[in-house]
This record gives sequence, C-alpha cells and structure tokens, in this order.
Amino acid sequence: MSNVCYALPPLQGTAEHQGSLADFIWFRTGGPAEWLVRPKDVHDLSVFLAGLDPRTPVLPVGVGSNLIVRDGGVPGVVVRLPKAMAKVAIEPENRVRAGGAAMGISVASAARDAGIAGLEFLRGIPGTVGGAVKMNAGAYGRDTSDILIEATVVTRSGDVETWPAARFGYTYRHSDLPAGAVVVEAVFEGVPGDPKVIGAEMDRIAAEREASQPLRSRTGGSTFKNPDGDKAWALIDAAGCRGLTRGDAQVSEKHCNFLLNLGSATSADIEALGEEVRAKVKAHSGVELEWEIQRVGVFSDDASKKRVGVK
Ligand SMILES: Cc1cc2nc3c(=O)[nH]c(=O)nc-3n(C[C@H](O)[C@H](O)[C@H](O)COP(=O)(O)OP(=O)(O)OC[C@H]3O[C@@H](n4cnc5c(N)ncnc54)[C@H](O)[C@@H]3O)c2cc1C
Repeated sequence: MSNVCYALPPLQGTAEHQGSLADFIWFRTGGPAEWLVRPKDVHDLSVFLAGLDPRTPVLPVGVGSNLIVRDGGVPGVVVRLPKAMAKVAIEPENRVRAGGAAMGISVASAARDAGIAGLEFLRGIPGTVGGAVKMNAGAYGRDTSDILIEATVVTRSGDVETWPAARFGYTYRHSDLPAGAVVVEAVFEGVPGDPKVIGAEMDRIAAEREASQPLRSRTGGSTFKNPDGDKAWALIDAAGCRGLTRGDAQVSEKHCNFLLNLGSATSADIEALGEEVRAKVKAHSGVELEWEIQRVGVFSDDASKKRVGVK
C-alpha cells in the first residue's frame, strides 16, 4: 500500500494516516487503513465525501464483527462512525431511530424498555446498525429487512439520502448498498409487547449464543452463508473440518462455521483456512460455500495492486 500522504478535504472529525484496524476488529488481524476517518457528524461526512477525489476508494466499517481485513491494509479511506452517531431514540408507532454506530444490543434494549417487540434478534448480533443494514443481519428466522422502515445514507459523492427499506434490494445476508455509501441512521419498527416477555426472549437468545458460539474469541461470525436448504456448519462438519488449523487460525470446535484467531494468526492464514474449508466441502458434498464474511483490502505481498473491496 502506498505510503504517500496525499491531501484530504477539510474534516471536523479526525483522520489518521495508517490508522490501525486490527486494534478493534473482532479477528484483531490485518493491515491499517491508509486513512482512518472519523467524521464529527453527518454533515461533516457529507462535506468530506463530496470533496474527496472520486478515485479514492471509501470503505465504511462498524466494529468488524464480519470482516477480514487483509494484511496489506485498506487503500483509500476507511470511515468509522463516532460514538456521537450511536444514539437510539423511541418514536411513535413502535419505531426506533438509531444512529449508524449504535450496537444491535442497544437498539434491542431500548425497544424492550419501550415495550416494542420484534427487534429481540438484534440482541445476539454483535455489530452496529450500519453493519446490520448493509449485511441484512439476522437470526432466529428474522432479519434486518423485516424491521427496517428506512435508512439514511451518505453516498460516496456526499449526498445525504433517506432510502425506504425496499431500495436496499434485500436478500439473505445481502443488500444492494453501493460501495462507499455509509449508513448513518436507520428507523426500525416493531409491534407492541410486554417488556418482561421481550426481556425474557433476549435473555434466551443471549444464553443460546453463549452455549453455541465462541463469543469470547477472536472471530468473524458466520464465515459462510447457509446454502439453500442446508446449514453451512453441517456441511463443514461432514467434510471433516471441525478443528482444522492453518498457522494460528482454526475452524472453531464449538461452531464450525466460525473461524478463530488463536493468537498470532494473520488474515492470510484465516482466509486461506476458509478457502481450504470451501475446497473440502466442495469435494465432499459438491456444495460451493459462499463467503458471508466481507474480505477487504489488499494482500501483503501485492499491496501495490490495490485490490480494494475484493469479495
Ligand atoms: C460472535 C458473532 C456472532 C454473530 N452472529 C450473527 C448472527 O446471528 N447473524 C448475523 O447476521 N450476523 C452475525 N454476526 C456477524 C456480524 O455481527 C454482522 O454481520 C453485523 O451486522 C456486522 O456489523 P459490524 O458493525 O461489525 O460490521 P463490519 O463487520 O464492520 O462490516 C461488515 C460489512 O458492513 C459494512 N458496514 C459496516 N458499517 C457500515 C455503515 N455504517 N454503512 C455502510 N456499510 C457498513 C462494511 O463495509 C462491511 O461490508 C456475528 C458475528 C460474531 C462475531
């Protein structure tokens, strides 16, 4: 990746050259952002993106709970929303308005306290509202598209637009949000419910997660999408990959659709292990698993090629 420190447009927030992503993303691996930008607010982000050379790639990140950042780092600008954009507010008609940086658990908890049911599943998804809107995150038969009314997006060219849910073109763990567009706010809707019942459901989700997922590990969530009518973990298990290692990367023993960094894995180890799993599953069952984890940035050996955003 280039070490040339080119000029950025004015910004009220902060811009860190070679800003570390491994410091906060769940796997704790991978190279830095060429520029790690934390805008002050929506207006700041909008002015910044409008003034940024259109050739500069922009990658929004949340807390990196579904991300492999390659070891060569991420060329261009990585946008991380600040805490000030994590506010959650209750609105009439069982609606919750949340900033793009708000965590799923904060949204679910606010909804519970206001007696709004239907958002409980967000309790189990350890990512931000922006990540959930982009990924159509979901669990227990529900996903973000079921509860989203609209979301506000700052486009790559700096326009602030409010999109109705239908515009996101949602399918399973996929949206049509264009590259470089940043989700800065979302409005979700539930139905009236009893806070005690909602709270009990959230507790059940938390307990089930604790029992079945490596929550305290360096991981990236579900590695592969569930193929139609099948479970990725079952195919991986049947192909003999449970516990498989490469360097310090491992297929979780607890939930084999999760990859782990046992300590000193590189992103290359983790990604290569994922590809090995895909090959073994294909050989065993004929199914081609599709990555759910977003793989971003450039490999350390070809950083100069700037293969940003490769999936
Ligand atoms: C233990 C564990 C359990 C998990 N369980 C589930 C689950 O049950 N269901 C599920 O769906 N997922 C699950 N995940 C995966 C992950 O939590 C979700 O995909 C989550 O929505 C990612 O949010 P994030 O903020 O961490 O996004 P990141 O991982 O930072 O980014 C993921 C993608 O979203 C984009 N993005 C992030 N923020 C924004 C933004 N503001 N605007 C535009 N794009 C943005 C990024 O560019 C990237 O493409 C789990 C992960 C872990 C570690």
